[in-house]
Amino acid sequence: MALRLFDSLSRELRELKPSHPDGIFRFYNCGPTVYAPAHIGNFRTFIINDVIRRLLELELGPAHVRHVRNLTDVDDKTIKRAQEEGRSLAEVTRQWTDKFHADCAALNCLPPHVEPAATAHIREQIDMIACLVEKGNAYRAADGSVYFKVSSFDDYGRLSRVKERQLDPGTSLAGKPQAADADEKEDASDFALWKAHKPDDGENAWASPWGRGRPGWHIECSAMSKKHLGDTIDLHTGGEDLLFPHHENEIAQSECCNGVPFARHWYHSKHLLVNGAKMSKSLGNLYTLDDLVAKGFSPMAIRYALLMGHPRKQLNFTLDSLHAAERALATLRAYRATLPATGITENVFAPVQAALDDDLNTPAALGALFTIVNRRELQADAGSFDRVMTALGLKLDAPVATKSEIPTAILALAEKRWAAKLAKDYATADALRKELTAAGWSMLDRKDGYSLEPSKQ
Ligand code: AMP
Ligand code: ZN
Repeated sequence: MALRLFDSLSRELRELKPSHPDGIFRFYNCGPTVYAPAHIGNFRTFIINDVIRRLLELELGPAHVRHVRNLTDVDDKTIKRAQEEGRSLAEVTRQWTDKFHADCAALNCLPPHVEPAATAHIREQIDMIACLVEKGNAYRAADGSVYFKVSSFDDYGRLSRVKERQLDPGTSLAGKPQAADADEKEDASDFALWKAHKPDDGENAWASPWGRGRPGWHIECSAMSKKHLGDTIDLHTGGEDLLFPHHENEIAQSECCNGVPFARHWYHSKHLLVNGAKMSKSLGNLYTLDDLVAKGFSPMAIRYALLMGHPRKQLNFTLDSLHAAERALATLRAYRATLPATGITENVFAPVQAALDDDLNTPAALGALFTIVNRRELQADAGSFDRVMTALGLKLDAPVATKSEIPTAILALAEKRWAAKLAKDYATADALRKELTAAGWSMLDRKDGYSLEPSKQ
């Protein structure tokens, strides 16, 4: 395949290939915890994964890609939210699952082929834990919880190199010590596979060979990927925070139970930041899709803005980037309208595809796209342009921004100036810039569009 991605395990760029004789590429992407609206940091990760899915399908054909993304619908956070609201866990997680689906659709993310929920796979999780207990990789503690014995798996730490890190005193291999269950574990590094029922869990408990309780978080992905994709998968992905301990623990569980390699390729995208800090529910520095739509931005501009940074570099989110994205989309819409339906044989967009195939370099792909758009002498047809839009998941007929914080007269001046610049009429462009400056706005030109900001005094 042409598509190469950085592999977090081997730490090199590797070609993605289906490894099973049926030629079907097995792709598992860790999904959302459904207790609140996902924020656009979460969506950065899901959109990046959506582009991977689209590139795989374009290359292998849609029938040769199987994409599984789970729903975490039972854990401390979901249970706490249900109890705070006096509602059942199922009611709360259904509400936020529906909202997640609506946001994914607005952002043009393809639905996964299978979307397994943890509470619908309790049997599979219990079976896997039983397998680990039987093989000596897990043990039941006095309270009825079951823990994975990290020392039983020599390869533990291969993904995160955690054993090579300088650990702070009091910190275990599995991260920060957890006071609540520290007494029950044989070793501080061990992690929970099954959590014995506690009064705080309310009704949210299931029967198991070890007593009533609920699964730990890590086991759901091992059990559900086994059920829906088999013992060895071709690609496993998630945001950078999942690399350790979640994915390290998934490898330990799956490889000890199944006795074969778990994932042939690991890919982790980096976080979206706000003022240098990770956008997160716990820090409260987040924007949801609805927050940004209420400010007048279109979901497609949000998708575009989230693709403007390299997926393996952290991206600082600014509202300014959304203005630039709206303008870029307007330029693409206008360009599309000038193209003949078919008839051009040379694929002028090959550099865009090449950038995507080279470790999903989305900013380089957008840069290459605008180089072509701005060079009007390059002949393209709508069919080949649409294929590029499909790969990036950019829907140009999606709703445009409904309102803007920039006055329409200023936007009109800026549009005129941008058109003059594209036409290389620099005298007009300079005159229009002066008009904008006089009106208190500065226009910043970029490769793929422009942004407008109130001038600094
Ligand atoms: P969660 O709903 O917290 O389980 O997270 C769902 C996905 O979003 C995971 O793949 C996380 O790694 C990812 N994620 C969480 N915060 C951010 C962020 N600020 N930027 C990008 N991805 C994130
Ligand atoms: Zn997972």
